[in-house]
Amino acid sequence: MKPIISNIDLHTHSNASDGALSPEQLVERAHSRSIETLALTDHDSILGVKAAQHKAIELGIKLITGSELSTLWNGYQIHIVGLYLNTHSSELDTFILAQKERRTARAIAIGERLERQGFKNAYERCKAQAGEGANITRGNYARFIFSEGKASSIDDAFNSYLKKGKCAYVKSTWPEIGAAVEAILKADGVPVLAHPRRYLMTNTKLRSLLAEFKDCGGQAMEVASCMQRPCDRSYLAELAERFGLQGSMGSDFHQATPWLDLGLSLVMPENVAPVWECARARDFFAKI
Ligand code: AMP
Ligand code: MN
Ligand code: MN
Ligand code: MN
Repeated sequence: MKPIISNIDLHTHSNASDGALSPEQLVERAHSRSIETLALTDHDSILGVKAAQHKAIELGIKLITGSELSTLWNGYQIHIVGLYLNTHSSELDTFILAQKERRTARAIAIGERLERQGFKNAYERCKAQAGEGANITRGNYARFIFSEGKASSIDDAFNSYLKKGKCAYVKSTWPEIGAAVEAILKADGVPVLAHPRRYLMTNTKLRSLLAEFKDCGGQAMEVASCMQRPCDRSYLAELAERFGLQGSMGSDFHQATPWLDLGLSLVMPENVAPVWECARARDFFAKI
């Protein structure tokens, strides 16, 4: 069967956080896969957006300024994607700066734990591998551990070192979801709840998260993602309708694999209002 490749992908990472490609390479890959609308959504960063925008204009791709902000809700690490961000917002800048400080402190603490496991200068070397200015996530550490030959895969690095309960796990101190939603709204962005099925919570908890997200100004949720069971996609579509949220879709691309790539398997169910057709989307592209 021929794989479905959508021409829209609204959740991707570059090496401004834990993606493998530079912003330019990411846009080039999107172009080679006939993607027409792409959002760059690095973790707590908009550093890659400028370079991506240049390349996107050159190749005729509609590039959406985005970021994936880390938050905490009832002990769960919840990711809120902001789309159509105004990159000249002092409120967003302040939020992102505070996140960078939290990320640096956590990355140093993770590095210290890895040192105890025999990884010399772990933080410095992981940072050098990630590149200038990158926000260090556990994804970067997973790649570092793998490249040191201490894990058989990225997944194995998480399971052996980085996930909750493992030796290099460090608790996060992210802000509440409301603070991230507010920073996105202040930057004229659209707040999107990222990958709602990845939090391993009950449906009752997920509905209460959606109610609170909507209540504090959330406008959309990811409905279609890569490697998703059809029953999960249709359930998320039903929730989007029920909570009056628009639908987004994205691969959460970090690096290409046979099972996850830009645009792969992204189809929006018909009962959902696509976020890329909202008024803010039209306004955003009218100004570029
Ligand atoms: P952080 O925000 O620093 O906790 O890192 C979160 C990032 O780590 C996610 O965005 C993913 O890129 C990556 N990640 C988390 N869990 C896994 C996993 N089990 N396997 C591979 N990557 C993961
Ligand atoms: Mn990531
Ligand atoms: Mn995420
Ligand atoms: Mn992501």
